[in-house]
Amino acid sequence: MRSVSGGRRILILGGTREARELAAALAEGGYDVTTSLAGVTSRPLRHAGALRLGGFGGAAGLIRYLAAERMEAVIDATHPFAARMSANAHRACRAQGIPLLRLERPPWRPADGDKWIAATGAQDAADLLPIGARALVTIGRQEIACFFLRSGLTGVARMIEAPPLPPPPGWTVLRERPPFSVDAEMALITHHAISHLVTKNAGGADTEAKIVAARRLGIPAIVINRPEKPSAPVHSTAEALIPSLRRALLP
Ligand code: NAP
Repeated sequence: MRSVSGGRRILILGGTREARELAAALAEGGYDVTTSLAGVTSRPLRHAGALRLGGFGGAAGLIRYLAAERMEAVIDATHPFAARMSANAHRACRAQGIPLLRLERPPWRPADGDKWIAATGAQDAADLLPIGARALVTIGRQEIACFFLRSGLTGVARMIEAPPLPPPPGWTVLRERPPFSVDAEMALITHHAISHLVTKNAGGADTEAKIVAARRLGIPAIVINRPEKPSAPVHSTAEALIPSLRRALLP
């Protein structure tokens, strides 16, 4: 008789550090693990187990994939802002009758000294900036147009891949990958005379330094709240999730 983990086929929906750590832990534990990435970064990092790239073609495509690959469970370890993929995973797992668990880092919480302004999305965040603001925008490339197209704003836009449109005068694009240190973030904010930080409430240690830097320098942070995701058992670490996966796979 095979062990609970032995050869069980698990799909991880990835794109995060947590997904990579989980893939390593599951592979180590004897699971047959495949990580799926959207294929948006040109040089994906190495993952333990198998890697597949690109969209599935909506929930229907994911259902076909799960059936064809005989997946036995799905772990949604996508970024907290990847709401479409999470909704598709929820629909597909229900249709296939297989367990869905989520690995998700807790959100950041404001601490003493933080000057947070809550935003509902990228456009809202851009609209909340006062005329003449110099923003450090760290929301990735997809929605950067909201900032580049708003008049009266300049600053720095940081992202891993190139932006979909050229930066207008007064904007600098930095193509960098986390982690970042607090000292480096403070130096960046000071060097570029930044007046406001703009960030998603992504959570996690890799990108938290900018929040600490904004607090120490006393500049406001426009923080975009997380989108709603469908309900699923949520764990914040691989160690906490694996026993729950083991139970979910019991006959
Ligand atoms: P999204 O809006 O939820 O997804 C858009 C579409 O991209 C999905 O419908 C799906 O296409 C495809 N997709 C997304 N994640 C996928 C995955 N892991 N494997 C295969 N296809 C995937 O997601 P997003 O916000 O564009 O994020 C894309 C990826 O970047 C995610 O993997 C996420 O973890 C990562 N990421 C996102 C952010 C962020 O701020 N949003 C930050 C860091 C990393 P189909 O419908 O064709 O299946």
